[in-house]
Amino acid sequence: MIGRLRPRTDLRTLITLLAVASIVITLANALYATWRVQRAELIENTLENNRVYAAKLASTTELFFQLAQSQLRFSANTIGKDFDDDALLQSEVDRLREQTSSFNSVAVIDANGFVRAISPESLTLKGMHLDSDSSHAALTARAPMIGKPSISAANNLIVFISTPIWSRDGRYLGYVGGTLYLKKKSILNSLLGEQYYRDDTSLYVVDSDNQVLYHQNGKRVGQTIAPLVDDKTLDANKNGALEIDHLDNASMLAGYATVPTAGWLVVALKPTLTTLQPLTGLLFNVLRHSVPFVLLTLLASMVLARLIASPLWQLARRAGQMEEPGVSEEIGAIRSWYFEAAQIKRAMRTGILSMQDKIGRLRSEVQSDPLTGLLNRRGLSSVLDYLLATQQPFAILAMDIDHFKRINDNWGHDVGDRVIQQVAIELNNASRQTDVVCRNGGEEFLMILPGAQPEIARTIAERVRQSIFQSSIEQVGQISISIGVSFWQPGDGPFGPFFKQADDALYQAKHAGRNRVVIAGTVAEPLL
Ligand code: GH3
Ligand code: MG
Ligand code: MG
Repeated sequence: MIGRLRPRTDLRTLITLLAVASIVITLANALYATWRVQRAELIENTLENNRVYAAKLASTTELFFQLAQSQLRFSANTIGKDFDDDALLQSEVDRLREQTSSFNSVAVIDANGFVRAISPESLTLKGMHLDSDSSHAALTARAPMIGKPSISAANNLIVFISTPIWSRDGRYLGYVGGTLYLKKKSILNSLLGEQYYRDDTSLYVVDSDNQVLYHQNGKRVGQTIAPLVDDKTLDANKNGALEIDHLDNASMLAGYATVPTAGWLVVALKPTLTTLQPLTGLLFNVLRHSVPFVLLTLLASMVLARLIASPLWQLARRAGQMEEPGVSEEIGAIRSWYFEAAQIKRAMRTGILSMQDKIGRLRSEVQSDPLTGLLNRRGLSSVLDYLLATQQPFAILAMDIDHFKRINDNWGHDVGDRVIQQVAIELNNASRQTDVVCRNGGEEFLMILPGAQPEIARTIAERVRQSIFQSSIEQVGQISISIGVSFWQPGDGPFGPFFKQADDALYQAKHAGRNRVVIAGTVAEPLL
């Protein structure tokens, strides 16, 4: 047989696969969209939260500095009235330190840089010359100022805030200044430290030289770090948010704000990785909630696939049995509920009718034998042409009346003719609608069974043999025939050798004792 490839997949499987693919793609798309939207939202929210947080801390710190300045200003006014009164000076610095709790230490310095009063007195600097940069700056500036954070004599990181003291007549007397210890407990430290940290959020306060003034990890205080926010960004916007990727080797979502009076920068940071952590859980939840819907859709598409494929599947199954009797009615009963199936169904029914019609017409044409009315050899060759054109498999039955010479000898030629006629009638009766019976000359016959599988052909041949054997013919009585059977299928080549095979099988049947059926290629069985 020629290697005709028969597709293994059927329509139902294909539709189901298509549905599954669509569901998977839709689900993946939904997950991706959720991921994209939620990711953007999480990042945006964190940036905004950090910005608000930094801005709040910056404004609180700014307020603190303004308050400290005004407290110093008030004291400066008081001291300026009587700068020689040491007791007044001491009580003012004590009051400032203890009453306001803004400063770790407070001192009054005269115009020459000598300490006139200091609180707490334990610092024992009174009367000494103060040589720090901040002090020089304050004496030179003669204006309110917030000094650069620096390391104090007692190894404290300090910020110095000062206000000049003027006499009533406008002479410069010195300044009153307070210090904040950034590493030790100070009002600023507790102000920032009170903010609680969660979700890995961290806080930096740096001065204009990028020296760390505050960080929850105390070890970083005093260190100088790479700029957290570059000058260009700061110039464009004093408060804002941005992604930073140069800190601790991780991407951070930062909100920043400046403290104008001090020139400080407050930066709140959260690692991008921590921010995006909830995404995994979220996607899992989306997936979990989609499962029932996905299963339902899958079930619905499987049912639908079955419904759609069913008419075509049934039609396809019948397409292999077009020669069977009653197949036209079976096709008619198939419920083809949509256009394509209905059209194919109609075409198949038309095809069957025209095939039956064609065979019928061939039979009735002039190519028939006058004695029996069966097809003659010419008629048979037309049938064979048709079978070849339509490439239909068929079975060949070669038949011969047993001991016919004796009939002729015993009852004469006419009786012999009647026997031939009688056998022709029996053959016609035993054949199916699409089978072709032909007189092959003398008392020999051929039957062509289109589409008949070996088992069916054998059954029909046996039926024919028995019906002849069982019919009693007037005058003659019981007669018998021998039958040889062969098969032809598309791809088997010319018909000739297959007729020869049927003849050989017939010869075998005669040889084995007559009145029997022999299938080509098998050994003749003894008659049961
Ligand atoms: P076997 O069982 O081997 O077939 O024996 P047989 O006697 O039938 O032998 P065979 O088939 O060779 O004999 C055929 C005979 O049929 C020969 C011929 O006289 C006769 N015959 C051929 N055509 C006709 C016909 O049209 N009418 C009649 N009456 N006899 C015919
Ligand atoms: Mg013969
Ligand atoms: Mg014979």
